Amino acid sequence: MGNVKNGSLLGEDYERLLREVGGNYVTLEKEIRIAIDHVVGPVCAVCQRVCCKASYCQRTLRNPWYRFLFKSFNKKKGLAWERREPPPGIGTKGCEIRAGRYAYCYSYNCRKVLSSLETDEARKTFQEISDILKNVGLNFMGKRHLTDVRDWQEITPERLRALNKKIEEGTKRFHELRSLLFMDKPGS
Ligand code: SF4
Repeated sequence: MGNVKNGSLLGEDYERLLREVGGNYVTLEKEIRIAIDHVVGPVCAVCQRVCCKASYCQRTLRNPWYRFLFKSFNKKKGLAWERREPPPGIGTKGCEIRAGRYAYCYSYNCRKVLSSLETDEARKTFQEISDILKNVGLNFMGKRHLTDVRDWQEITPERLRALNKKIEEGTKRFHELRSLLFMDKPGS
């Protein structure tokens, strides 16, 4: 894994841990993305305003953790990151950053999206689902968020293990919330 500088410095155990935690994160990200797309897809498809910005897409590129997820787990490679209009992540089916997308992109819901849900309870549940990845990354380094990581040296084995625990908790909570919101898996 030549792109993981610290991985080769710290050896195979670090790389194994990194792959394991990365895999767990991406599994949760995929489940959350499917649930979110189920709600925002119909609204965004007919919306004239694009709330995405190139500077948000680039958070994936600038952050070693998200960049690792993108490079290791994303099918779409070679996005034109330097492009500002339209934002590089946007493709014909919406955001093409399927792994390692900036966590705050998931948590933002405009008024139209929220009002497409029928009850306050559904809105609250949906917002909580949207916030899960943001919450998983909270306090990754003291008070700093996972999105603030700029260097591999900051992604220590201890922090990875703590992150893994939060991913587990986030996954459990997501499954509870999804069954509340959809009463079953979306699309089933
Ligand atoms: S949702 Fe995707 S395309 Fe939109 S700003 Fe975020 S990363 Fe970029």
